[in-house]
Amino acid sequence: MLVTCPRCETQFTPAVGTCPACGDYRPPLASTADYETNRAELDMAGGLSALCVHQRLVDKRFIELVADEIVACARRNVRRSNREVGGYRILAGAGLLAAGGLLVVASRGTLIVFGILAVGMAMLLAGVIQYVSGANLD
Ligand SMILES: [Zn+2]
Repeated sequence: MLVTCPRCETQFTPAVGTCPACGDYRPPLASTADYETNRAELDMAGGLSALCVHQRLVDKRFIELVADEIVACARRNVRRSNREVGGYRILAGAGLLAAGGLLVVASRGTLIVFGILAVGMAMLLAGVIQYVSGANLD
């Protein structure tokens, strides 16, 4: 995501604060905030704490209220994408359980079938936990 300097038409990322060519143009807060939200989201998905991200924003002279909002927004987005992964785990776990269940009926339960059931159950549980908490379990 780039912004364009209206004076010299240089394109640059809002991360640098002012236009690197003429040093005269400062992008509007909204585009910097968008950029920082994306970045915070990536960092927090990668394991950086909300506190670190918040501190970085304050260091960049975002006011407390805006820093809070960016962190909260990034956290929401991270949770939402973790929930999606949790949802897939639930489906995969349920699928394995169903397949294992059919195999139990068909073969009267061998070790492999119980293995499939155990993996399916573990996946389903992990999925439910991830879905409910929005945490990243990987
Ligand atoms: Zn410029």
